[in-house]
Amino acid sequence: MIAILRKSAPREAVESLISWIQDKGLETHVSHGENETIIGLVGDTTRIDPFLLESMDIVERVQRVSEPFKKANRKFHPADTVVDCGHGVKIGGGHFQVIAGPCSVEGDNLVRIARRVRAAGATMLRGGAYKPRASPYAYQGMGPEGLSLLREAADELDMPIVTEIMDPRDVQTFIDHRIEVMQVGARNAQNFPLLKEVGRTRTPVLLKRGMSGTIDELLMAAEYIMSEGNDNVILCERGIRTFETRTRNTFDLNAVPVLHYLSHLPVVADPSHATGYTRYVEPMALAACAAGADGLEIEVHDDPEHAWSDGAQALTPDQFDRTMERIRAIRSVVAPSGDDRA
Ligand code: PEP
Ligand code: MN
Repeated sequence: MIAILRKSAPREAVESLISWIQDKGLETHVSHGENETIIGLVGDTTRIDPFLLESMDIVERVQRVSEPFKKANRKFHPADTVVDCGHGVKIGGGHFQVIAGPCSVEGDNLVRIARRVRAAGATMLRGGAYKPRASPYAYQGMGPEGLSLLREAADELDMPIVTEIMDPRDVQTFIDHRIEVMQVGARNAQNFPLLKEVGRTRTPVLLKRGMSGTIDELLMAAEYIMSEGNDNVILCERGIRTFETRTRNTFDLNAVPVLHYLSHLPVVADPSHATGYTRYVEPMALAACAAGADGLEIEVHDDPEHAWSDGAQALTPDQFDRTMERIRAIRSVVAPSGDDRA
């Protein structure tokens, strides 16, 4: 961390700032330039609140030198992380997977949808048994019964499950149902007790970007999980809230290459929640593939008009068949030599 001081900073004030920093256990390197004085802070800079430092009268600006995320940082882990989701399904480092299924687990239709998405080439089954809804009166999900339905369908089809966890108290229930991938949704991207609790397991976590979360906040959320010992984190870009109203969210496809640049973790893109409308899901799924995503999460429902949630953005199984064909076509161009391709 570097503190750039104001030109007018009196010598005594500079000295007392240096002692304040040193009292926190950090070393200081001071350089007196012609126009400004710069203090380099060396050591455990987490002991310093950069905003407090910058609020001091003699400080003009504070600049971080290293990122606050360490375990998720590609600098310290140059090779791509490959997350093993079980059932022979790996993601990251050239392994590309498509996660598909309904928004909510609703009942017997789950297995029918699962068979169709499996036949089309999806390799992981999604479906929410615990639903984060803006209204407490909206459908909240089937709970443990929904997890059992997912388990039955996934076992029949030999697919790993991706399903959302909202409450740290549910971790054991997810483990009891052998859930292969726990999804932490956009609304929980800064639910720190939940991030820590899933971090104490070794179950892979699909971590979605918060609705108004920056890329750095997503990486710090991953850091929460990893700092507890769970390195099996998959990042997910699902669109962010902006002033645009023609789509449910604004798909920030920049995040895909940016996350790959900053982090070694696999990056999945979710064109369903990012766009909110069936008609936009395929083009944006293809764009995400072209941008280098390691996987896609796509909502599919066999009767979208009667879906219990997110019917407006669901692909029908027939539409999904076509989208998968096109995904394969894009993948054959952008990653022609990989194995494990969808
Ligand atoms: C979901 O995947 O069904 C979901 C609720 O996603 P998000 O957290 O991205 O809104
Ligand atoms: Mn949904």
